Formats: sequence, C-alpha cells, structure tokens
Amino acid sequence: MLEPAYQADVVIVGAGVAGLSAAHRLNSAGVTTAVLEAAPYVGGRMATEKVDGFRLDRVGQLLSTAYPELRLAAGLDALVLRPFAPGVLLHSDGRRHRVAAQVPGRGARGALHAVRALASAPRAPQRPGPAAPARPGTAPWGTAVDQARLGAALGRIATVPVERLLTRPESPASQALAARGLPARTVDGFLRPLLASLLCDPELTTSSRCADLALRAFASGRLCVPEGGAEVLPELLARALPTGTVHTGVRVTSVATTRVATAEHGEFRCRAVLVATDARTAATLLPGLRVPDFHPVTVVHHTTDEPPGTGASLLLDADRGGPVAHTAVVSQVDPSRAPAGRALVSTTVLGAPPAEVDIAVRRHLSRLYGTSTARWETLAVHHTPEAVPAMRPPHDLRRSVRLLAGLYVCGDHRDTSTVQGALHSAHRAAAALLADLGAAGSMHAAEPPRSVPRAA
Ligand SMILES: Cc1cc2nc3c(=O)[nH]c(=O)nc-3n(C[C@H](O)[C@H](O)[C@H](O)COP(=O)(O)OP(=O)(O)OC[C@H]3O[C@@H](n4cnc5c(N)ncnc54)[C@H](O)[C@@H]3O)c2cc1C
Repeated sequence: MLEPAYQADVVIVGAGVAGLSAAHRLNSAGVTTAVLEAAPYVGGRMATEKVDGFRLDRVGQLLSTAYPELRLAAGLDALVLRPFAPGVLLHSDGRRHRVAAQVPGRGARGALHAVRALASAPRAPQRPGPAAPARPGTAPWGTAVDQARLGAALGRIATVPVERLLTRPESPASQALAARGLPARTVDGFLRPLLASLLCDPELTTSSRCADLALRAFASGRLCVPEGGAEVLPELLARALPTGTVHTGVRVTSVATTRVATAEHGEFRCRAVLVATDARTAATLLPGLRVPDFHPVTVVHHTTDEPPGTGASLLLDADRGGPVAHTAVVSQVDPSRAPAGRALVSTTVLGAPPAEVDIAVRRHLSRLYGTSTARWETLAVHHTPEAVPAMRPPHDLRRSVRLLAGLYVCGDHRDTSTVQGALHSAHRAAAALLADLGAAGSMHAAEPPRSVPRAA
C-alpha cells in the first residue's frame, strides 16, 4: 500500500511513452512527479512479448529516424534505432521492386534513386544479393517519367517545413492524393500502400496533412525499429527517472486539479495533474473530451530457419492481393529479436482481420516472399482493436493539452497517432505545465480543488 497522502508537484496518469517523457521533462526542470500506471508494467501500447528467445512487438514496426522527438526526448540517448534497407520493396504481379527514398550526399532531391526488380519468378526463393535492374516500364507505379516525377515530389515534400505543411488545405488523404497531379498508377501502385502502412489506415480516410507529415518523414529519414523491441523505448524513459517515481498496478478512477483518486491505493495530492492515458480512458477521466474512432491493427509473428531473401527490407503489396499490409524479416533488421539460427518474420494486417487470419496471412506471405510458408511456425497473433486513433479531417494536430490551470492531457490522441505524436504532445504538455507552475509558484495554495471541466 502506498502512502495515501503522497506529495508530488505533478501526478501523471499513465506510463506510456507520453506520460514517461513528460515526467522526464518535468523532473529535469526540478518539478517532482509521480507516474501512476494501471498495468503491472510500463510502456502502454509499446509492449514486447518474450517467447522462446524471440522478442515480439504488439505494435507495427514503423518508426522513422526523421521523427524529431526521438532525438529531443530526454532519456532516449541510449536508444538504438535499427534501420530497414532504404525505402521499401513493392510486390506487384509476381515481382519485387525497390523504391528507395533519400540519397546520401544528394539530399532529398534524389528521393527516388533506385528502381529494381528483385524477383522475376513468383515462386523462386530469393537470397540477399545484388538486385537485377528493372526493365523499363515494369515498376508498378509507372514509367521512368512517372518515377522521376514521384522522386521529385518526394524530394520536395522532404524539404517543406512542417508548419507550412500544416497550412495546406485539408481533405481525406485518398481524395488529396488523386488531386496531386501524379498518375493514377503512381498513386495506386506506390503511395496508397505506403501511406496505408504508415498511417495504419487501409482506406486512407486520414487527414491529408497527417499523410503529408508521414510522407515527409519517409522521404527525409529511414524507416526503423528500436533495437530490442518496442518496449525498450518506454523502459529507457522509465529507467532514467528518479527511483520511486513510477508506480505500476495503480489504476486511477478520477482526477481533479490537485488530487487523483485510485481504485485501491487511496488519494494522491499534488499541485497539478497530467492525464497521459489512451484516448478512451482520457475521455472517461476528463468528461468532455471526444472519443475518436480507432483503426484496428493485427500483428502476426512467424519463425522459420530458412529466411526469405529480402534482407532487411520492408515489403508492401502494391496489388493488395491479401490481408498483409506490410511484412519484414525483422530479425534481419534487428538480430536481437530472434535466437541464433532462426528468422523472425513480422507482418501487419490493417483493419478488421479476416477469419482464420493466420491461414490467410500465410497464403499471402507465400506469394509476397515467393516461397512456401507451410513449415513456418506461428509465434503470436496480436490483435489490438483500438490500436491508433483515427485522424480524419478536420484533424487538429496541436489539440489543446492545457484544459485549465492544474489540469493537462497528453498522448497520441492530442497530436498524431504515432510515437512521434505521443512524445510531441508530452513535450507541449510539459511546457504548458512549467509555464503555469513557474508563473503561479504554488499554483493551488489558496484554491480549493476544482472539478473537471465539461468541454475541451
Ligand atoms: C498495433 C499497433 C501498431 C502501431 N504501429 C505504429 C507504427 O507503426 N508507428 C508509430 O509511430 N506508432 C504506431 N502505433 C502507435 C503508438 O504505439 C502509440 O501512438 C503510442 O505508443 C501511444 O503512446 P501513449 O503514451 O500516448 O499511450 P499508451 O501507450 O496507450 O499509454 C497510456 C498508458 O496509460 C495507462 N492507463 C490507462 N488507463 C489508466 C488508468 N485509469 N490509470 C492509470 N493508468 C492508466 C495504460 O495502461 C498505458 O500504459 C501502433 C500502435 C499499435 C497498438
């Protein structure tokens, strides 16, 4: 049992990456925090299951080295990002084509620098090695001219300042793509499958501004995974906090500006409260917050002792010929995720999964990798119905994090539905808190506790 009258300047509800990162920023500024987490572990959605020497993420595996908050968030100095091979591999009509963004030394201008057909026969197992050059016009996203236009478009978006992207007119990404002047085959053969994976949104109902941000990160950085699994990121943040800051197994039932009630651990008193839970719980604790729709995501992990020959590439299906949105031999990207001699293939299915998802995924993987998956072993099927909040237009990427003096909210639902968005919202919430605490000194010394506002 924790001390019921525990004193901290700020109580933070939720130890996902947003709550932990905010705690870090506040502690670094000399503000004491208590982080209350309902689960027995930290990390929230960034969880990694350990099975027989494999490290199996519940989340899809797409971070970008261009996410600014991965560099800015205090406590992440020791984070190692393992990049995929540049760009992506696109499967279309039995062939695999590489689309690589960003050319070292040539900057974003050469955003599309390689077009390669890696497989000519759908069933032939491939080994890593030099890729055969594409035949002109064989790429699923168009002719050489189309490819040059796509390269120029990606190059331009990589250099547009974020604030300028956010002033562009907003519509559903699927509509905006059609109006961008790129050929339909470029949009359907490359941009749609790529954006669906980056946004966890198969129908591309997401705001075009969020889609532009995702494309910008793709064109200016490398897709990557955290070495050791998704959980490493929150664990690093938690480890860097003063001992005794994080309390797991403590479920918060209500909040006000100067106190937090818990299910079994009494009341915590404080000078301010930051709610850093998922969107649905935040709306329960802070009535008046909107509950968004969510995109469901399923991640399926297989192992084999004969890894398909796609190396460390992320593989997408331009033909959308099955349930798989993207897949990779993740152990080739981050060898710490599988025991020696075994390959880990991690695959993401977007939207409602089909019945008998593992069978449907295996069939699709067999076509994508050009090899039989019959002897592959299924390690885990993780389905998360409320994986990421939908970001339909109009989507405010800078949703308010300060509800009133003493009451704040952060998490991916206040920004973009990504790790970058969660960390950025924490950054904004910590700044708002510090401004209020600095301005008001003991902000609530003379004030009675206030109840939660109805509108936000
Ligand atoms: C399947 C899947 C795939 C994804 N793919 C990607 C991707 O490719 N790229 C990307 O950038 N992002 C991806 N994401 C999204 C990313 O994981 C999230 O945006 C990010 O982890 C959100 O962090 P958070 O701290 O805002 O929320 P959360 O991680 O949800 O943390 C909230 C915490 O609050 C705790 N909590 C809830 N209620 C209470 C309570 N009453 N009392 C105390 N504690 C409470 C929860 O237990 C949890 O630990 C994916 C997510 C999923 C699930």
